[in-house]
Amino acid sequence: MEIVCLDLEGVLVPEIWIEFSQATGIKELKATTRDIPDYDELMRQRLGILHENGLGLNEIHQTVDGIGPLEGAREFLDTLRESHQVVILSDTFYEFAMPLMRQLGWPTLFCHRLETDADGVVTGYKLRMNDHKREAVKCFKSLNFRVTAAGDSYNDTNMLGEADKGILFCPPINVMEEFPHFPVVENYNDLLAAIREN
Ligand SMILES: [Mg+2]
Repeated sequence: MEIVCLDLEGVLVPEIWIEFSQATGIKELKATTRDIPDYDELMRQRLGILHENGLGLNEIHQTVDGIGPLEGAREFLDTLRESHQVVILSDTFYEFAMPLMRQLGWPTLFCHRLETDADGVVTGYKLRMNDHKREAVKCFKSLNFRVTAAGDSYNDTNMLGEADKGILFCPPINVMEEFPHFPVVENYNDLLAAIREN
């Protein structure tokens, strides 16, 4: 039995914070873990910016709804789900991802949560657990699944290493160079072929 674990941003949908930054015109929201390596500090900065600009859950949903998945992502996922169990493992938040999940046909998603008050104001965030992508792969293996994992960036490499087969999908050049043992694919057809190769 086989299960495929996919990263979300950069594999099926664009980078949500970057798109959100463009959609709202707030440049400071473009910062990623490459600019501010401490994730907690980065998130506190992002939440502060949302607060300052009066952006809550409703605005986030409206904006993210207009982003849409990457071209061909829905078709890729539908095809893959005919032959494999698929779980998306992401470091995003359900509140961000839900409009995109609807456009992807509601696949299974494990990610984190934003905390909000009754008015939809974002007050904090809750990580499900540290290194949850790798932990999920470990658990699937203990349930006798063979696991193939695909992702595009640093936060995927533990998951890729833990999986029976790890694949980099359209990674930045530095990730490719730092992790040369993972095969690289650049489009959905090749990703399907690499997954089916097992
Ligand atoms: Mg990614």
